[in-house]
Amino acid sequence: METNGVDTDRVEAEARRVLESVPGYVWDGESLPVPVDSIVENVFGLLIRLVEDLSTAPGCEGIPPENLSGLLLTSSGEIWVNAEEARRWEGRRRFTIGHELGHHVMHRATRTRVFCRPVEVVSDEAPEQLAGARSVGGEQPLPELEANAFAAALMMPRHLMVGQCGRHGGDVDTLRAAFGSSEKAMKYRLDAMKSWPKP
Ligand SMILES: [Zn+2]
Repeated sequence: METNGVDTDRVEAEARRVLESVPGYVWDGESLPVPVDSIVENVFGLLIRLVEDLSTAPGCEGIPPENLSGLLLTSSGEIWVNAEEARRWEGRRRFTIGHELGHHVMHRATRTRVFCRPVEVVSDEAPEQLAGARSVGGEQPLPELEANAFAAALMMPRHLMVGQCGRHGGDVDTLRAAFGSSEKAMKYRLDAMKSWPKP
């Protein structure tokens, strides 16, 4: 199954492998929301920092800070998260951390020093940002799309989505609260769910 060039089966499998490797003292495999922070810190040993100005990161000089949601610094094993976004949107903060973990799991072998997560220009949660945001230039590079798919699969695991939807139907607000996601991310996930094989 391919979406926008992303091999979703492979990315889903990567996220599933990560979740299955989480020891029981970090997560029991069922409780929601999935503890993305603990997984990143306790399983992968990455440090999460809330940073006001992400453009201070090496390799990001010159990028307007309001255009960055997060970064993975591969050499120091740090994930930097846009502090302003994190204060305002918990779901987006979690998604950004999941996105950067996706780079760590899938892409760090490419030896890129830093991966950035650009602010998404079209958002249902931050319409006021539309005016000031620079377009990230149409199509995002494949690693960015893969990291987004990984974050979704990590935060909203398939088997738990199926279980919760069985219980609550497809109510977006209930589901986003349970999974700790943004409304937009949950809508994408519900849409993707239509193509999943029936259990
Ligand atoms: Zn990225």
